[in-house]
Amino acid sequence: MSLDALGRPLRDLRISVTDRCNFRCTYCMPRETYGRDFEFLRRDEVMSFEEIARLAQLFAKLGVEKIRLTGGEPLLRRDIEALVEMLAHVKGIRDLTMTTNGSLLTREKARALKDAGLNRISISLDSLDDDVFRAMNDVNFPVGRVLDAIDAANEAQLWPIKIDMVVKRGVNENSVVDMASHFRGTGHIVRFIEYMDVGTTNGWRMEDVVPSREVVERIAAAWPIDPLNSNYFGEVAERYRYRDGAGEFGIISSVTQPFCGSCTRARLTADGKLYLCLFATEGHDLLGLLRRRATDEEIVDEIRSVWRVRDDRYSEIRSGETAGLQKVEMSRIGG
Ligand code: SAM
Ligand code: SF4
Ligand code: SF4
Repeated sequence: MSLDALGRPLRDLRISVTDRCNFRCTYCMPRETYGRDFEFLRRDEVMSFEEIARLAQLFAKLGVEKIRLTGGEPLLRRDIEALVEMLAHVKGIRDLTMTTNGSLLTREKARALKDAGLNRISISLDSLDDDVFRAMNDVNFPVGRVLDAIDAANEAQLWPIKIDMVVKRGVNENSVVDMASHFRGTGHIVRFIEYMDVGTTNGWRMEDVVPSREVVERIAAAWPIDPLNSNYFGEVAERYRYRDGAGEFGIISSVTQPFCGSCTRARLTADGKLYLCLFATEGHDLLGLLRRRATDEEIVDEIRSVWRVRDDRYSEIRSGETAGLQKVEMSRIGG
């Protein structure tokens, strides 16, 4: 087992398969920055499926058990189910998931992903109010088509389906109870995420954060709820159940209640850079190493030695000063 400088094991790997996206969510890829002239990674800079699978195998040797595919928008990668199939065969991986905006998740795609070995899926949806959602994704994408994607995932049994909602003050906070109500009793788990100061382009301000405590209060005013124990060490969402048996929801409070002490996640960008924290300023170039024909042992040694000295705990030490750092963008690191 690989432990970092704060005694945290390496368990989860989030792999961003592309830095491109067909949405322009205002809190993630604001149009002013990600316009026509923005230079995304070139095709030859992006990891091939074979390169991703090889790195995943090496991470698994170091203790990684969970892999999440993300982006940008992961379903923009053609034939992503071929990658899913390769990763599903990696020894030691017991949970293989994906986070998507759902826009390209047809019934056929959901079925193909399930057949290839994807265990579960998380679909992002910030509001059920069509005007609010269209304004937030900033490409005029309708709520109805994300709801169709959720149905497609449900039919393909990509369970439990998680619905991720970033809550932003004055933008979609009034959608919290609606979202909870809509998904109560469906078996899907809504997770309310605090708006975070990832990257530098979204103009994050503390005033725009709706503390999760407030989200819980709003829901508790509508239905009786109880807190639940976490499922495993390092689970980022705090869970609550509806007392009437209509299921559960989660909150992810990275800003107001940081959970760095149990952070077991490493992140790989689409161009193969290893980041040890969502708020890191620099990555370690694993793809370069791999393309220079490093052996498996050399790559494993490199990952182990970077993890060993990892002492990141950004959310615990967040301040005016840290907020000004040149942090990696969310669309590159994948959440
Ligand atoms: N495009 C896919 C999607 O939206 O699900 C996957 C990548 S996206 C970067 C992963 C998650 O990060 C999404 O649920 C998104 O809402 C969330 N996210 C993006 N920017 C964020 C921010 N500033 N604070 C909190 N969550 C954010
Ligand atoms: Fe795209 Fe996901 Fe970022 Fe929205 S949150 S812009 S869907 S990568
Ligand atoms: Fe992990 Fe960094 Fe987030 Fe803390 S701030 S939980 S170390 S990713």
